[in-house]
Amino acid sequence: MTKTIEITKIVAVDDTIKYEIHDHTGLYLLKNEKIEAWVKFYNAESFGFSPESLPESILALPVTLYLIPVTWFYGVELVVPSMDKTLCDNLPIIYATYSKIYGPFKEEWCGKVTAKTVVENKMPKSRFDNIVFFSGGVDAVHAGINNPGKRNVLVSVPSIEYMEKTKEENSGRDFINAKIQLIREFSAVSESDWLLITNNFVVDVFDDERIQRDLKDSFLLNSEAFFFDGWFGIKYLGNLLSAAPFAYAMGISNLILGSSFEQLEDNFYSNLDGSNPELSDSIKFAGISFGKQDGLYTRRSQKVKNIVEWCNTCGKRTKIRTCFSDSTEQCCVCTKCVRTQLNIICAGENPIHWGFGNFDEKNFSRLIRSYHYRERNLCWLWDIVASIDDSRTYPCCDKLLHWLKKVGYKGYSRRVRFVINLMRILKLHRYPYYMNSVFRKITGK
Ligand SMILES: [Zn+2]
Repeated sequence: MTKTIEITKIVAVDDTIKYEIHDHTGLYLLKNEKIEAWVKFYNAESFGFSPESLPESILALPVTLYLIPVTWFYGVELVVPSMDKTLCDNLPIIYATYSKIYGPFKEEWCGKVTAKTVVENKMPKSRFDNIVFFSGGVDAVHAGINNPGKRNVLVSVPSIEYMEKTKEENSGRDFINAKIQLIREFSAVSESDWLLITNNFVVDVFDDERIQRDLKDSFLLNSEAFFFDGWFGIKYLGNLLSAAPFAYAMGISNLILGSSFEQLEDNFYSNLDGSNPELSDSIKFAGISFGKQDGLYTRRSQKVKNIVEWCNTCGKRTKIRTCFSDSTEQCCVCTKCVRTQLNIICAGENPIHWGFGNFDEKNFSRLIRSYHYRERNLCWLWDIVASIDDSRTYPCCDKLLHWLKKVGYKGYSRRVRFVINLMRILKLHRYPYYMNSVFRKITGK
């Protein structure tokens, strides 16, 4: 029997596209046998945009792109009522590219996508040049300052973010308001229009934990990219492309994504995760594709310097939003907050003026000097230490930076590991029985 997942209904009402999806696989890949999914556009009225007038094959794009990856593993057939021809022609390239980055995927896993009708869409007259995806982080702000002005639209899709709150609700009023405030403030800085899009894909569509487990334990994916962000990363761009109907309606053919390029000493490498440039290059539909990622070979420290310089030259100020947690004020102590604050300090600025309201020079120095800044990938630490100028007096945390430069990135990460191990041992001391067994095991007694 064919295992199918079918999109049975697509309707647009006001600023929202609604979908009905049925899981006939018998594998419980979706959270329920019947799912209602939606994509909602905020600030659509300022563009005179409503999805209501769009062809079904365009309305189908967000949910189709989000569902496609599941067909690669379980021999599942995805049935859609109508499909854009460019996307249809491009499916083998998308599959091959994801297989290259996350796989290799075995040929026999591959299911298929069946469309009742395939439509060649001709884009309406162009009203803007680019969509610049905007999350508020360093890469996105950099993409924004490189593409400012009236011919660009900043688009934020906060529902893609993987946050502590995702499990409960990521479409609550406070959440939306915080995200709208962030993009509105930056749109005033970059003088571009803005649009915010939410969807319930992560919250309501797939049984993500189960699929992630299968990919690891049954399909045995073990690539670097898979270990980095797994099933979540495989769906990342499909989720971001909730923007597709808007791009089509505005005649925007070029999508710009900030790159999260990494470099460690002389090793340059693209980010092996869901936003890898090869992945974004592979996706094309309805005359729309991703352009070259912004800052493809620009280090993070340099991006922050560029942002600071651009803002200072234009007499503007913006917030940089990077925190892993999702409260209104950034925590200033998570890895991403610490990384970004160090970047800002190295650019000769005080983080308190760049969106880190809780920054305190004394506490921050203490946190770094006690080796509590722990990076999984050393490229970020290398980048920060390498960007510190020995001959410069920094207005903020000057002593700390010169100390860090002297310690070096290898020395710092060695001591971080030492501190982690020490903490483990100290914790074990509280359990003498286990310490005894460990000791006996080591000594062979
Ligand atoms: Zn944080």
